[in-house]
Amino acid sequence: MAHDVAADFLADVRAFARTHVEKHTAAWARGEAIDPAVALHAARIGLTRIEIPVASGGMGLSFHTKVEACAIIAAADFGLAMSLVNTHNVAKRIAVTAPEAVARTLVPDLIAGRASACTALTEPSAGSDAAAMRCTARPTECGWILDGEKTWIVNARHARLSIVYAQTGEHSDATGIAAFLVDLTNPCCERYAIESGFSQASIGTGGFRLNQYFAPSEHAILPAGTAFKAILSEINGARIYVAAMCCAMVSAGLRLARTHGETRQSFGKPLDQQPTWREPLARCATQLAAAWALVETAIIATEAGGDARHLAAAAKVNAVSLAQAQLPAMLHAMGAEGLKDTYPFTRHIGAAQIAALTDGSTGMLLDRLARWDPIPVQLRALQG
Ligand SMILES: Cc1cc2nc3c(=O)[nH]c(=O)nc-3n(C[C@H](O)[C@H](O)[C@H](O)COP(=O)(O)OP(=O)(O)OC[C@H]3O[C@@H](n4cnc5c(N)ncnc54)[C@H](O)[C@@H]3O)c2cc1C
Repeated sequence: MAHDVAADFLADVRAFARTHVEKHTAAWARGEAIDPAVALHAARIGLTRIEIPVASGGMGLSFHTKVEACAIIAAADFGLAMSLVNTHNVAKRIAVTAPEAVARTLVPDLIAGRASACTALTEPSAGSDAAAMRCTARPTECGWILDGEKTWIVNARHARLSIVYAQTGEHSDATGIAAFLVDLTNPCCERYAIESGFSQASIGTGGFRLNQYFAPSEHAILPAGTAFKAILSEINGARIYVAAMCCAMVSAGLRLARTHGETRQSFGKPLDQQPTWREPLARCATQLAAAWALVETAIIATEAGGDARHLAAAAKVNAVSLAQAQLPAMLHAMGAEGLKDTYPFTRHIGAAQIAALTDGSTGMLLDRLARWDPIPVQLRALQG
C-alpha cells in the first residue's frame, strides 16, 4: 500500500518536472524568480510533506522516496530541488519537535506551499567551522534575544521562517548551540539576496541579520546540548540526497549526449558510430553506476538505523566529484550544441560546484574519510 502511494507520488513528481520545471530552468538560470504557482503545484503533489507524519498532514513516506523525489527534480533543476527539500525538512522538524500549538500554527502554510523555510548555520565568519558561529541567543524571562548574521542560506531570500542556530554559551562551544524558530518577516530581521556567476534564483540563496530579535520560549525548538548533534545527524541525510541529485544530473547529461550521438552526423556517419566518441560515454556510465550503488548503500544503512555517517560522506564526495568531472565531459561530447540554454549542461556544472559546498564541503568530508575503512561497514549495511 505504502509502495503504491510512493510509486504514484514519484510518477507525479516526474510529470511535475516535465510540465512545470523544465520549461522554466533557462529563465531561472538568467536570474528570474520562481513563480509562486510552481511552489504551490509542488506542494499540491506532496513535495513539501514527503516524510512528515500522516497525523501532522504529511504523507509519511520513506527517506528513500524523498531521495528519489529530490533526484527527479534535480535532473531538471538542482536549485528548485534544494529549495523544496529545505522547506520540507523545516516543516518535518517543526512537526516532530515543536510544541503542538506551534506546529499547528506554522506547518500548514509550509506544506501547502504558501510559505518557504530555511535552516541557517553559516555566517560570514563561520562556514566549515560552524561551531565557531557568532550569532548569540541570550535568555530573558519569557524567551530569547537573538543577534547575529546568517549568510549563504538556501531560500533565505524569500523564506517566511528559519530554524536559526545560535550560541547560548561561550564562543566555539558546540554544546552551547541551540536552535530557534525565527520569523524572517519580523522588522528585527533584515534580509538580502545573494547572487553569483551561477544563478542563485531557483535555490533562493540569501542571508539575513537579526537585530535584537525576540524568540518566545516555545520557539526554542532544540535546546543547547542537543541542537548541534541533531543538525549534524540531519546533514547526513542531506548528504545522501545531494549525492543522488548529482547522480541524477549526470544521468540527464549522459542521456542527452547519447541521444545527440544517434543523429549528429560527422564524417558521413552518426557520432555514436565513432568508437573514440563513445568511450567517454562508456566511462561516464560505468562511474555513474558505481555512484548510484553507493547512494543506494547509504540509503539502506540509513533506513536500517545504522551509522551511515561515512557512507553518506563517501556517497556525496563521490557523486559530487563525478558530476564535476563528467558533466563537462558530456557537454564536450555534445559539441557546441550543448552550450545552448535549451540543454541543462552549463546549469548542472554550476550546480555541481554548489553541491561541493552545501551540507559538508568536499574538503571537510575527505578529512573524515581519510580515517575510514569501508569494507565492513558496507557489508553490514547490505545485510541490514
Ligand atoms: C548555494 C549555497 C547554499 C547554501 N545553503 C546553506 C544553508 O541553507 N544553510 C547553511 O547553514 N549553510 C548553507 N551554505 C553554506 C555552506 O554550508 C558553506 O559554504 C560550507 O559550510 C563551506 O563554508 P565556506 O563557504 O565558508 O567555506 P570555508 O569554510 O571558508 O572553506 C573554504 C574552503 O576550504 C575548505 N576547508 C575549510 N576547512 C577545512 C579543513 N579543516 N580541512 C579541509 N578543507 C577545509 C573547504 O572545503 C572549502 O573548500 C550554502 C552554500 C552555498 C554555496
